[in-house]
Amino acid sequence: MTTASAAAPVSLVTGANKGIGLETVRRLVEAGHRVYLGARDIDRGRVAAETVGARFVRLDVTSDESVRQAVERVGQRDGHLDVLVNNAGITGPLREVDEYTGDDAAAVLLTNVVGYVRVMHAFLPLLHRAADPRIVNVSSGLGSFALFHDPRRIESRAGTPLYGAAKAAINMLTARYAQLLPGMRINAADPGMTATDLSGGQGHSVRAGTDAIIAFALAGSDAPTGAYRDRDGDLPW
Ligand code: NAP
Repeated sequence: MTTASAAAPVSLVTGANKGIGLETVRRLVEAGHRVYLGARDIDRGRVAAETVGARFVRLDVTSDESVRQAVERVGQRDGHLDVLVNNAGITGPLREVDEYTGDDAAAVLLTNVVGYVRVMHAFLPLLHRAADPRIVNVSSGLGSFALFHDPRRIESRAGTPLYGAAKAAINMLTARYAQLLPGMRINAADPGMTATDLSGGQGHSVRAGTDAIIAFALAGSDAPTGAYRDRDGDLPW
């Protein structure tokens, strides 16, 4: 396990007690970052942080108070944040299409969209204090209109409407915020189908699923902003 130096970049990953978030934390620690592992459950978060040498911070993306406390903790200990990875996400209920309700939509959007915006805005002051701040929004190919309209792609046939709409919103938020905050690199990463609880264990390894996230987080001074990529490169919006 790598021990980060005092001058190490400071990163925070939301929804990181398992899956893609946990692997992202592990790889950032490996890269020498001082990493905050955000999780809403204290016990599972602490155990996960210990296994990868990260600092646990309690963070429920649906709660202003929880996010405020996480910002306070990072601010007090490190004074700035170099990399924010917005990762916490849910599929929401899986039903026959006729059965979806407004409450189902509210639940998915609350975590997958409002949660990203809440966390991003709360951490902006700490990000502005970093030399080369980055936000990586974990999106999905299911948020792409172009992939939806390409019959060769799995995205044209799979996925729920509410989850896809949430990820499309993340893509537009990424493009807009990248334009409005030119001092920051803000990008959207598609993990691809990755074997986690969210996908029912289907897909490639969590290492492969974190390649695009890590590429954005660790890219040098030529890092893009307003880009949408998977591990193989640019994706059509
Ligand atoms: P996962 O294994 O189910 O992990 C999701 C994580 O989000 C868990 O740690 C979960 O915490 C956390 N979370 C959910 N609601 C939260 C909240 N309100 N506050 C804080 N944390 C919360 O799923 P995953 O596959 O790693 O997904 C990670 C991201 O990748 C998501 O944004 C997902 O949409 C995206 N993605 C996944 C795939 C795929 O095939 N797996 C493909 C494309 C995109 P708990 O353990 O407490 O529930």
